[in-house]
Amino acid sequence: MGRGAGKPPGFEPGYRSLLATGELQRRAARLEAMLERCELCPRRCQVDRRRELGCCFTGVEPIVASWGPHTGEEAPISGSNGSGTIFLANCNLRCAFCQNADISQRPADHIGHTSGAADLAAAMLQLEAEGCHNLNWVSPTHQVPALVRALALAAANGLSLPIVYNTNGYDSVAVLEQLDGVVDIYMPDLKYSDELAAQELSGIAGYPAAARSAIAEMFRQVGDSWDLAPDGALRRGLLVRVLILPGGLAGVAETLRWLSEGLSPLVTVSLMSQYRPCHRAGRVAGHPELRRTINRDEHLGARLALERFNKSPHTLVQGFSGLQA
Ligand code: SF4
Repeated sequence: MGRGAGKPPGFEPGYRSLLATGELQRRAARLEAMLERCELCPRRCQVDRRRELGCCFTGVEPIVASWGPHTGEEAPISGSNGSGTIFLANCNLRCAFCQNADISQRPADHIGHTSGAADLAAAMLQLEAEGCHNLNWVSPTHQVPALVRALALAAANGLSLPIVYNTNGYDSVAVLEQLDGVVDIYMPDLKYSDELAAQELSGIAGYPAAARSAIAEMFRQVGDSWDLAPDGALRRGLLVRVLILPGGLAGVAETLRWLSEGLSPLVTVSLMSQYRPCHRAGRVAGHPELRRTINRDEHLGARLALERFNKSPHTLVQGFSGLQA
């Protein structure tokens, strides 16, 4: 892979013009100021993260679990050269079925593993040099200030890959407003349409309303159309991930109805069937269905709802076997 091989030709991500005016650095400073009374996500812990930790167990410095080219995302994200993935450690949710619990749910494992902004910026530049199509911030919500600070450093050194904001959806609209023009591709989960399911399975209050508000802000920024590079890699747009859970726990049809009627039928969806019982999924009281994968009827029901509510030409459906169809 040659240097910059995956970079979309003729494309300049929004943050480059923000860098030129000094606005990117001001955004980083505004986000860093929010750490003093943290409301970076809707948990609103209101702790001073310079001195104490909130529900995400993360202070000021970034904690990166791993980074590198990744080919396992949706095809328009991974492209042919891979997505430049940066996995941030810890999380603001407590999903019982988390597939990355070793990264997201074991804060003790990450104590003392902080990076500086300069190291993070160097990783971003290395991913670009390796030919990745984008920089994919995985679980960025609680570490946004450090990411934007590092981005400003990397951009000053020539970085020009689009940014993917790959989130669980439990994001603050005020924070997202600071990312307007910084992020090119929003890739949120919309995990639940039911409040009780969110509380029981992810330990969170108000998820459906908060995630819908967040995704509405992402939609305001990038709309429902996609900007694709000639090689098919996405360089600007919104991709909403909807994971089918056993027993209808995700409320997929209601989620798809809201996306269509609340935003637009042309919002692109990635309908995912890959649920498997991970982490604490087998021990959630009252939900034995979480101990199995989804069945054929659950997959068909979700696909029929997608056909009814979604009209995006880019929408992706993961087949029942777990293969992209
Ligand atoms: S980012 Fe962390 S500390 Fe801040 S409100 Fe969310 S969970 Fe709490």
